[in-house]
Amino acid sequence: MSHNDFDVAILGGGPTGCALALLLARMSARPERIALLQADNQGRYGFTPGQDPRVLAINHGSRVLLESLKGFPHQAALIQTIHVSQRGRLGRTVIRHDDFGVAQLGCVVRYSSLHAQLSTAVAQSGVTLLNGPAARIRTQDSAGIEIGQGDHLLRASLAVQANGKPETQISRQYAQMALITHAQASLPRPGWAFERFTQEGPLAVLPHPDAAGQQSIVWCCAPERAKTLSALSAEDFSIALTQMFGTRLGNLTVQHPVTAMPLILNMPLAAVDGRSVAIGNAAQTLHPVAGQGLNLGLRDAAALAFSLQEWFDAPGSNPAQALAAFQQVRGPDRQLTARLTDVMSRIFTTRWPIVEHAAGLTLLGMDLIPALRAPLARHLLQGMRL
Ligand SMILES: Cc1cc2nc3c(=O)[nH]c(=O)nc-3n(C[C@H](O)[C@H](O)[C@H](O)COP(=O)(O)OP(=O)(O)OC[C@H]3O[C@@H](n4cnc5c(N)ncnc54)[C@H](O)[C@@H]3O)c2cc1C
Repeated sequence: MSHNDFDVAILGGGPTGCALALLLARMSARPERIALLQADNQGRYGFTPGQDPRVLAINHGSRVLLESLKGFPHQAALIQTIHVSQRGRLGRTVIRHDDFGVAQLGCVVRYSSLHAQLSTAVAQSGVTLLNGPAARIRTQDSAGIEIGQGDHLLRASLAVQANGKPETQISRQYAQMALITHAQASLPRPGWAFERFTQEGPLAVLPHPDAAGQQSIVWCCAPERAKTLSALSAEDFSIALTQMFGTRLGNLTVQHPVTAMPLILNMPLAAVDGRSVAIGNAAQTLHPVAGQGLNLGLRDAAALAFSLQEWFDAPGSNPAQALAAFQQVRGPDRQLTARLTDVMSRIFTTRWPIVEHAAGLTLLGMDLIPALRAPLARHLLQGMRL
């Protein structure tokens, strides 16, 4: 019998930490021996989860997982068609739900609603919730791992870093900020999501979960330009946005504050360190192009729970084998998704006409030849299935 206070301590109660807590609670005969430690202070971007202005495109696989955990929010906007284009150059592709024989390709939810729904499910799951100062791993030995949360010390057999922040140095500082807001379209197209590549960075216009005709905007551009755009009046920002996006949805009118978030790629080589393992943004922080970060994080949570199944029968034993299996199974999906989003975020911004033209032709080729489009679309929609 382990003398540790908990079998598993999850540091960070964001969407991936909550999803893992719920998955483990289902597997454990004693869910109270799973601790979820959530910091009271503001997160990486200066918001508490309830204030976070992000909207998240969730793919079909993530939705199924969240629904099974009773963590899917009530308000969600469906995505049935994805339109990908390049501003000022030839080339576009359209991905439709019926190409894949599914009713929808994904949906868009508010980060805050998703977090609220998951937190409610966690509160009912029997998991021990420890809200307080930021938690951190202090030491580990052959029998367990010691975690500090302010003055409070606890021991667990296994620690999961789900705090949204990789420990290692940033591996790429994108010279881009994401401007987040929402806009009303004068010619809305329900169910359509647009990813428009520009020389400044990708611009995503997604259906907003709150109301028909509302669009969620994620506009990635150079930091200086982001500063200038953020200082514009709502009217001038709306004009600049419509100019950049084009008129596929008529005029876009912004009446909401614009939030700027810095963008980085951060990916430690190994997600496992002894009795500690990282998942979600703590394991990989990606560019938001194509909306992959949380989808990848939820696949981490599901794969970790699966790898820990046998270990849960004897949680006092060493989890090394289970963690090694987790690391091996997750490697290809993490690497491929990080590379894909890294290339997609930069290839249209090279200002080398030949590269941008080639990228445009690739989009065109994908539009004309479904066999080219299918593997990329499938990866972005479902992730890597092993
Ligand atoms: C502009 C933008 C748009 C995006 N759009 C999409 C999208 O469309 N689709 C998609 O799939 N992904 C998207 N993402 C990525 C997505 O937001 C992240 O992948 C996701 O939020 C990661 O969840 P997480 O739980 O791992 O981390 P987080 O959401 O960062 O949550 C971590 C939690 O841990 C807490 N915490 C931090 N430190 C500690 C500590 N020391 N102790 C205890 N608690 C701590 C924080 O307060 C926070 O609540 C986007 C990201 C950005 C920036």
